[in-house]
Amino acid sequence: MGDRSAKALAKAFGYTTVADILGHYPRRYATRGELTSIADIPVGEQATLVAEVVSVSTRSMRQKSGNVLEVVITDGTGGVTLTFFNQAWRAQNLTPGVRGIFAGKIGVYRGNRQLAHPDYELFVDEDPGEHASQEWAKKPIPLYSATSTLASWQIAKAIGVVLDVVEIPDEVVPEGIRTPEKTLGYYAALESIHRPTEASQWQHARDSLRFQEAFVLQCALVKRRHQQRLLRSTQRTQGDKTNAFLAALPFTLTPDQVSVMHQIHEDMAAPHPMTRLVQGEVGSGKTVVAATAMVTVSQSGGQTALLAPTEVLANQHFRSLAATLGPDMVAWMNPVLLTGSLPAAAKKKALLAAASGASHLIVGTHALLSDTVQFADLGLVVIDEQHRFGVDQREVLRQKGRHPHLLVLTATPIPRTVAMTVFGDLDVSTIATMPEGRIPITSHVVALADHPEWYSRVWQRVAEEVTAGRQVFVVAPAITPSVMEEESDVESDPDEPEAKALTTVEETVPMLRARPELSGRKINALHGRMSSADKDEVMRSFYAGEVDVVVATTVIEVGIDVPNASVMVVLDADRFGVSQLHQLRGRVGRGSHPGTCLLVTHAEENTTARKRVDAVASTLDGFELAALDLELRSEGDVLGVRQSGVRSRLKLLRVTRDGEVIDAARSYAEALLEGDPSWEGHLALTLEIARRLDEGSQEYLEKT
Ligand code: ADP
Ligand code: MG
Repeated sequence: MGDRSAKALAKAFGYTTVADILGHYPRRYATRGELTSIADIPVGEQATLVAEVVSVSTRSMRQKSGNVLEVVITDGTGGVTLTFFNQAWRAQNLTPGVRGIFAGKIGVYRGNRQLAHPDYELFVDEDPGEHASQEWAKKPIPLYSATSTLASWQIAKAIGVVLDVVEIPDEVVPEGIRTPEKTLGYYAALESIHRPTEASQWQHARDSLRFQEAFVLQCALVKRRHQQRLLRSTQRTQGDKTNAFLAALPFTLTPDQVSVMHQIHEDMAAPHPMTRLVQGEVGSGKTVVAATAMVTVSQSGGQTALLAPTEVLANQHFRSLAATLGPDMVAWMNPVLLTGSLPAAAKKKALLAAASGASHLIVGTHALLSDTVQFADLGLVVIDEQHRFGVDQREVLRQKGRHPHLLVLTATPIPRTVAMTVFGDLDVSTIATMPEGRIPITSHVVALADHPEWYSRVWQRVAEEVTAGRQVFVVAPAITPSVMEEESDVESDPDEPEAKALTTVEETVPMLRARPELSGRKINALHGRMSSADKDEVMRSFYAGEVDVVVATTVIEVGIDVPNASVMVVLDADRFGVSQLHQLRGRVGRGSHPGTCLLVTHAEENTTARKRVDAVASTLDGFELAALDLELRSEGDVLGVRQSGVRSRLKLLRVTRDGEVIDAARSYAEALLEGDPSWEGHLALTLEIARRLDEGSQEYLEKT
């Protein structure tokens, strides 16, 4: 490809290889026969449209010398004016009746929509007789995601240049799989998706490439799993300590807890490392189950490291694990806490306990990943809330032992196909039922757009709860007017360009303290800009019942357990994601008191923002909400090529929609590995895995 095109592509999309360019799939297709509806294109948008020239005129400019060429194009109903300054020569080609593709930014001039100095390419007939024919009118024109410097047809040309010369020596998907799946070979699929002669071609090509994408991904994951199986780790079997621990529990485990506990113990008794993800709603009892594994590892002299995403959570895990384990186990296992904010002397002591083997349970934050942390015999790594850590981080920790077992706990329910795609190298267990006696949380949408008077009612309700001896969480999307919580995942709303300022923690605290019904109540803030010591003190005093209301950002999203907290108020609830709201709601109703969640929003009915909030209020089923969340986040939209990070994203595959494709790809990948574990005969596949799982994809896999 010419230097200029290559540079333009690199600048616009970061493409540097032939594979990058060929992977820039069309966003949609137009035909010469069907004109793009002009009225639908918003002003200000970079648009690419197929249209017909209606009229052409030239006029002199009033103020200065020179002329303006005005060309009106139409979609058959409405029109747009193209204007060119001092380029009257263009009138030679832009004659009435001619069709073409026009690209530029839609502007408004004196009330009329216009494109100033647009790029265009007119449809010229290679064969003069062709124009009238049906095929000519129906032939799909690929439209690519373009930029102001690189028009769709320029991209098409560049891709064409590559397609003309590129050779794809080996197929990524073996023929034995392509035949039953009726998918095209790689080259044929690329040719058809970029240069189709009829619509059915690009559809077949898109299906084929989508399958290939799923297949490569599943092969990578299956392979990673297989490699895990080849590692040797210390086998840990359940002994009398674990039996004693179970006997001392004040409750009996639910059937789900028992079966997950057995799965874990089966895994740990095998000679290769366990890699298991346990998912279960908040309060379903994951921690107790994990504790049985910790005791078992301890029995054979091994240590457990528990990695928590925040200091607050590490502290809480440390406390709640100690409570769960009971005094005998604590005396025997000697748990220590290791976080970044620990005073030097305490840190030194903890490091020593880990390195010497004096402690069998080390609970900490990212501080555990530091080089200075060593273990005598790291047998089990437990990671709380997978989505906050990447595979890299969990691997750093695992490197500190000889292939320790891995247990990942998550309260974010993961739909099966997502689990298979994103956590495909982990075995998944689910605790689906809650311990008995839990009263379901009631959720209400406080729609201020319809009922502004409900705002006061929210705080009355809070006051009533506090009077009854309960405690309340209030969550706001921002800390101060200018500072967002770094850890939060607050959604910006494209529907609402002039969004109202976010409610902040710092304005809510004094506002609540000033409300008469809450006078004399203890109301404290909790957010990520406070020091760890301050945060921990607020959590401790809230836990101890000394604070009535905590006004927080999403630092409290995961895992915080205060049984006496019964009401959760989320302010600007529409600013949070669906799963995030569900997680927040899980913070209340954890004790014997019924929980209530009030989702306060200004969003109007029927907006996307409001739908998110309504959805959360309508169901307690985390799986349903997780699937919906993915839908609403429009992950990797159809033929969806984002303008940046193209390389790292799944392009055609959608985990929520393509479950069947993913399933099929998974079975083929497993069968392939069984037949030929080294994949020696599949060089192209191996290379493709390496290419796709470059840094960007890894990151994508982990963060999705
Ligand atoms: P998770 O980690 O899944 O959020 P936890 O393990 O922290 O849940 O359990 C939440 C609460 O329920 C804890 O107080 C725990 O002691 C209690 N619990 C766990 N399992 C049971 C059970 N089978 N019956 C009654 N209470 C249980
Ligand atoms: Mg827990």
